[in-house]
Amino acid sequence: MLQAAYVEDVNRFAVFDRDDWNCYLCDGAIDQDAVVPHPQAATIDHVVALAVGGEHSMANVRAAHFLCNAIKGDRTIKGLLTRPDLLANQGVGGVS
Ligand SMILES: [Zn+2]
Repeated sequence: MLQAAYVEDVNRFAVFDRDDWNCYLCDGAIDQDAVVPHPQAATIDHVVALAVGGEHSMANVRAAHFLCNAIKGDRTIKGLLTRPDLLANQGVGGVS
């Protein structure tokens, strides 16, 4: 259960407006008309992922493209860059 990470209601559009509809992961403009699963669509991302103890709060969320958010997943950017095995480990290993 991740309920313990819940801190406050987070209004998606308040986050997008606060962040000027700019993706914090790639620093690119977010298409306000795009809808998920469009890669340029607006999503909110937890800077510190809920899975690793981050809070669901306005302070811990940023606007991000759907695509950028999907690539980042529950990992921190630093963790992703220092753990290439997490990206590489998508093969067919274990098939016997
Ligand atoms: Zn982006």
